[in-house]
Amino acid sequence: MGTHEITIGPTRITLVQGDITTQTVDAIVNAANSALRGGGGVDGAIHRAGGPAIMAECRMIGGCPTGQAVRTTAGNLPAKHVIHAVGPIWQGGQRGEPALLASAYRSSLAVATAHWAKTVAFPSISAGAYGYPIDQAAEIAIQTVLAEAPGLGLAEARFVLFSAADLQTYAASLERVRGRPRGDAAGPAKTPG
Ligand code: ADP
Repeated sequence: MGTHEITIGPTRITLVQGDITTQTVDAIVNAANSALRGGGGVDGAIHRAGGPAIMAECRMIGGCPTGQAVRTTAGNLPAKHVIHAVGPIWQGGQRGEPALLASAYRSSLAVATAHWAKTVAFPSISAGAYGYPIDQAAEIAIQTVLAEAPGLGLAEARFVLFSAADLQTYAASLERVRGRPRGDAAGPAKTPG
């Protein structure tokens, strides 16, 4: 197993095991539903820890299409923003799920950087109640964020995995990217300090 970090241009991509609600970053991403109504999993945890201001803003926004993302306050959380991203529900993989999942990550990064966020933490969108197979979800998450974040000038994109098994799955995806020639976008692989 390799390290849980890679640096590409200005961006550190890091993997940690933990609870996204405790992350001290500019923006945390929520795995929301399109009604922005809250729910279980990471969504429930964010609303519980962040307090009612987040839901009040979600109600005013009203909803968000699958594959897109919207921003609210982070309420009582240490982060400044919550980016509510709507991933696809897994229906077997032939219903546009990969493109929609990639789009949810891209939209999250676009919304975060539009609000001047330099550090962003992601959960594994769609990989819980929405049923996306974790190995495929990890591959899309890593590839999309690696492709987008450096060009947006992000300082850190952090994946916060709830379980040790999910962390290992993401680490394997990161290792595959590291082993691949990346032309001039590739920075040297870094070990954590
Ligand atoms: P979705 O409905 O998009 O599948 P879920 O919240 O059900 O969203 O699950 C997404 C991922 O978030 C799962 O891998 C789940 O284990 C993880 N998760 C649940 N709670 C937290 C948390 N507090 N911090 C980080 N990840 C979490």
